Amino acid sequence: VVRALDVHKAFGALRVLEGVTVEIDRGEVLAIIGPSGSGKSTLLRCFNGLEEIQGGSVEILGTPLSLKPRRLAKQREKLGMVFQRFHLFPHLTAFQNIIEAPIHVKGVSRKEAERIAYELLDKVGLRDKANVYPSQLSGGQQQRVAIARALAMEPDVLLLDEPTSALDPELVGEVLQVIQQLAQEGMTMVLVTHEMAFARKVADRVIFMEGGVIVEEGAPEEMFTRAKSPRTRQFLQQVM
Ligand code: ATP
Ligand code: MG
Repeated sequence: VVRALDVHKAFGALRVLEGVTVEIDRGEVLAIIGPSGSGKSTLLRCFNGLEEIQGGSVEILGTPLSLKPRRLAKQREKLGMVFQRFHLFPHLTAFQNIIEAPIHVKGVSRKEAERIAYELLDKVGLRDKANVYPSQLSGGQQQRVAIARALAMEPDVLLLDEPTSALDPELVGEVLQVIQQLAQEGMTMVLVTHEMAFARKVADRVIFMEGGVIVEEGAPEEMFTRAKSPRTRQFLQQVM
């Protein structure tokens, strides 16, 4: 569904991605782990064309990311994004946050957008919070609204960048539960996370990044019990 081929990305003299090749298959959950600054967020941003790249290519559904802004925007709609810090519109209720993009970006009818929004609020367990503003929601609830908002565009892939790392520990579980349910339903996801136990449980494949390259890639069981690279083992020892 998404394919990155030998992607190089630099911010000025700082080389952040140095030849990353990765392919995400439909229905797959890919977890990306690695130390701070290794380029995980940057890679996610390259997937949806939020970062200009200096080398290599990114394809979505078999088509290279377009250089034309309008076409790129269309391609970007196929990828939902969930951030560490929810980024909900503060002046809109949970419900309004969810229907906004389907109506104004995708051109779905209001009635259809509202139907989808209620369905998604049910899915994330927040039907009763439809008319509440983000400031009145807990972090975990805000993140669940953010996930519902991303899903409302019916993306082919959901990109999640540390979706639980801004949350108080007691709120992490409710968000992970939603993500796990999506995984079970076959949603294609790329999940950058520090929750190793969760990655092990839901991911089909894990990538360990360091210094802008993929150091190791494999099935979660392999990666977490018998990583090949000493660097991977050292990292996992530190975080688990
Ligand atoms: P973390 O686990 O802390 O989120 P990360 O693996 O997501 O780290 P990135 O955010 O991708 O790392 O950052 C990789 C490197 O690129 C870092 O050195 C960071 O400072 C740098 N960087 C990221 N965004 C920019 C930017 N817009 N301008 C300049 N440098 C940037
Ligand atoms: Mg990051």
